[in-house]
Amino acid sequence: MSGEPLDLEFVQQALGRWGEAFTPERERAFQQYGQLLLQWNRQINLTGLDEWSAIQRRLLVESLALLPWVDRACERKTPCRMIDVGTGAGIPGIPIAVVRPSLMITLLDATKKKIRFLETVVQQLRLANVVPIHERAEVLAHQPAHRGRYHLATARALAHLATACELTLPFLAPGGLALFPKGTGIEQELAESQPALALLGGELLAVEPLPLADLVGTASTLVVVRAVRPCPPMYPRRPGVPAKRPLG
Ligand code: SAM
Repeated sequence: MSGEPLDLEFVQQALGRWGEAFTPERERAFQQYGQLLLQWNRQINLTGLDEWSAIQRRLLVESLALLPWVDRACERKTPCRMIDVGTGAGIPGIPIAVVRPSLMITLLDATKKKIRFLETVVQQLRLANVVPIHERAEVLAHQPAHRGRYHLATARALAHLATACELTLPFLAPGGLALFPKGTGIEQELAESQPALALLGGELLAVEPLPLADLVGTASTLVVVRAVRPCPPMYPRRPGVPAKRPLG
């Protein structure tokens, strides 16, 4: 590992809140991930945040905030299959993979260099449970190995909720959950997304303040959607269309 050891105080506190141990293995993994993130972020644009403290709180802690819902979605699923759509630098997929090594996690992103970064992370952290894939969600969601095959989908900062639903719900088996961390003041976005949810076979399960807000340092909202029926085969539409013309 290069560079000074990073302060993982907020990660440690977040794990403590959930009754999770800050084991030497987890500490090593978060150190390595943080170092790689800072290093690669100087070459390619992985995140607009450049301060370690902000990266730790907004990316790592915000990912760990999802753990109770991750555990709920994965209860009695062995193995539990999760997909992180538009994962970017691996948020929230990598922090979840570190603390839940039994999950089989697909990290999906349309940007090749981000996937190259994630392949390095997977190799160096020895995350045998994680597979990065370079593809668009609109394409991967139509492949039989991925369509309707996941118990859990996450998407942070991917798109408007209606678009994010079109890009994630087709991956879920009925009963599966999609988790969308969002900002605040999302009432209009929620209302605009209701028709999309109905078309895609989903229902709104919860809208709640994102936990650990004091550690994250900013208030956010967690939107939880459940897949109640298989998604109709025409969705997602062709690449680019879900963002250009959100369902509504
Ligand atoms: N989830 C990460 C986070 O919260 O830091 C990254 C968010 S970044 C703003 C959005 C990411 O979604 C980008 O890395 C982009 O390449 C990816 N993306 C956008 N549209 C996509 C699509 N249709 N299929 C797959 N990835 C997509």
